[in-house]
Amino acid sequence: MAEPLGFSKVKEGDWLTVKPGFMRRSGTSGLVVGIAPEGASLDFFTCGQCGSLNCPCYASIEMWEWGELEPQDDLETAK
Ligand SMILES: [Zn+2]
Repeated sequence: MAEPLGFSKVKEGDWLTVKPGFMRRSGTSGLVVGIAPEGASLDFFTCGQCGSLNCPCYASIEMWEWGELEPQDDLETAK
């Protein structure tokens, strides 16, 4: 179990949100496409540079560390 508290149930196909204040993806949700000990790879479906869809610098999948993401488990316990 490498994931910190709040991310124990994260799996591919889930959505995670970048914490406020973290650069261009602040507050943005991405689809989990990969999980690593240090974080998750998220697909935002938009360009990481300008935010547009399908622009020349298009790179929609980025690796984010757990500490930069909003914990997911709060949603589960709220039910
Ligand atoms: Zn762009």
